[in-house]
Amino acid sequence: MKNLWNDADAEKMVADYARKGVRRDLALRVYTTRLLGGEPRLVLHGGGNTSCKTRATDLVGDEWDVLCVKGSGWDMAVIEPQGLPAVKMGALLKARALDTLSDEDMVALQRSNLIDPASPNPSVETLLHAFLPLKFVDHTHSTAILAIVDQENSKALVKTVFGDKMGYVPYIKPGFELAKVAADVFDADPSVEGLILDKHGIFTFGDDARQAYDRMIHYVTIAEDYIAKNGKPQATKAALPAKLAKASDIAPTLRGAVAVARGEGRFDRMISDFRTSDAIVDFINSARIAELAGRGVSTPDLSIRIKTGPMAVPAPDADKLGDYKVAVRSHVEAFAKDYRAYFETNDALDDVKRTMLDPMPRLTLVPGLGMFGHGRTLKDAKIASDVGEMWIEAVRGAEAIGNFQPLSKADLFPLEYWSLEQAKLASNKPKPLTGQVALITGGAGAIGAATAKLFAANGAHAVIVDLDPAKAAEAAKAAGNNSIGVGADITSPAEVRAAFDKAVAVYGGVDILVSNAGAAWEGRIGEIDDALLRKSFELNFFAHQSAAQNAVRIMLEQGTGGVLLFNTSKQAINPGPKFGAYGLPKAATLFLSRQYALDYGAYGIRSNAVNADRIRSGLLTDAMIASRSGARGVSEKEYMSGNLLGQEVTADDVAQAFLHQALAERTTADVTTVDGGNIAAALR
Ligand SMILES: [Zn+2]
Repeated sequence: MKNLWNDADAEKMVADYARKGVRRDLALRVYTTRLLGGEPRLVLHGGGNTSCKTRATDLVGDEWDVLCVKGSGWDMAVIEPQGLPAVKMGALLKARALDTLSDEDMVALQRSNLIDPASPNPSVETLLHAFLPLKFVDHTHSTAILAIVDQENSKALVKTVFGDKMGYVPYIKPGFELAKVAADVFDADPSVEGLILDKHGIFTFGDDARQAYDRMIHYVTIAEDYIAKNGKPQATKAALPAKLAKASDIAPTLRGAVAVARGEGRFDRMISDFRTSDAIVDFINSARIAELAGRGVSTPDLSIRIKTGPMAVPAPDADKLGDYKVAVRSHVEAFAKDYRAYFETNDALDDVKRTMLDPMPRLTLVPGLGMFGHGRTLKDAKIASDVGEMWIEAVRGAEAIGNFQPLSKADLFPLEYWSLEQAKLASNKPKPLTGQVALITGGAGAIGAATAKLFAANGAHAVIVDLDPAKAAEAAKAAGNNSIGVGADITSPAEVRAAFDKAVAVYGGVDILVSNAGAAWEGRIGEIDDALLRKSFELNFFAHQSAAQNAVRIMLEQGTGGVLLFNTSKQAINPGPKFGAYGLPKAATLFLSRQYALDYGAYGIRSNAVNADRIRSGLLTDAMIASRSGARGVSEKEYMSGNLLGQEVTADDVAQAFLHQALAERTTADVTTVDGGNIAAALR
């Protein structure tokens, strides 16, 4: 592994932070923490921590010996000094004399000795850092080190690979007890330059930041070299079907299979992130992949991301996709059954009250194709994929030099169900549309953009489809929540298909369609140009049909229901003069909505429509408002609020109606009117 220390960079950081009043040792602590955090083979999504023993001054000017240690929630790659909260050393060191200390008391001890009470929680490995006397302590879950410690004979192997320079610590769950044992190992031989923690990772330390970092890179490189030199040829490959299906062919099926059924047709859905590379495919094509996946995670804290380990499914045959759907469902059921048994067996061992997490896999390995990370958000799904790549690397290394034998599931359980993690989960309530994907046509227009924003604020990922790709991207950015913009002419069935393919490629599927795009052409119906009427039907009817068809195709693959929402306008009910070219296809679209409700209700797919009127938008521009209000001899304000409530109706009001229809799980074939009240357009 390349050593990235650079004197000039280090000194620049020291100088930059000095101007902000940050001490030299803490600035260098930030510098090497970022070097470690930027390398996924060392540190991944919270899987590592660093510390520095220094001095800090409190609000009344008293100076204290403190441990600045990584705070939870901070990413080491971009850490700042405030991500390394200062904890008074005196109290931490005293704790070593205790016989026991519960996790809750350990957190309380750490928090009550913070210099700044607003700091994040110091790492769960804080005491281990404190008990080691050297000034700088670095800890990672290096994949090369894991390949060495995830072996049955790991103790002997650690000795062979590292000699006497590294202490060996048997596996103990992170926390007080591990900190004490690790400190005892150090005290038994203070000449060691680091500690290897069985089934877990590596600590190195030194008198200055550079020494601790150099030692980390040095010992990780020794592990890498050992694996490269002693690695045996790779395992036999499994036979693949002659014609492999594509990832997009199976993504909705898999996404549906891992959704958590809450009963009565209700689901907690997940996002799927597809990831592939030659290295990923080469590894998961092993004939033993299911067996290796079943052995578990390479280091225990991965369980928070991918539970007890990945799920392996068979390679998909493009000619047998129907059979494949059945196979995927049975693999997911088997995984969930094993998970439930794992929970029940281990939970029964003591009196601690725990809530079982959902039993669904978070990482699926598909030979021939790659892997899918699953999560309630795109971010979590991508983290699962990142973790999957490093799991593969550690297992490949372990198998090259021996036999991948990670922590047993019984030992993993207390970590996955660590009381503090459980408390965090209880406070982490998902939003109403978390895990759902909403595709919105006309997504950059006033109503589309307002709907995308509202849906994203309620947890959905929005796929904003618009004729103008730049505007679609802009609206996606404004909506937030990792939404995406897609440019498409929705009167082209091929472009509609491509937009849905994009949604499947990024998120794994679609749950909500907001079929919103439209445009109006004026003219008395008896005199209107036939081509214009047909053009209006293409956009205001057939484009809705083509979007709905694609949505239903994906929803049926998922098997978790879904909802189609159509913007049908007041014109569908109550024609306006010279507006036939617009109203006729909209009336057809209103009935299209009802037809979908009728034909697909049995599959849990709902279909609703919104009748909106007089909304300031691309369809009713400021210039049009000026001209129409002028023609009627009323002010623009009077024109826009010419309804029973006497108030202007906005795009946000329409977005609220769509949200209501998306959330109302027992509402289908509904038409919601959003026009401020218009008796002539009221539905019977
Ligand atoms: Zn650790």
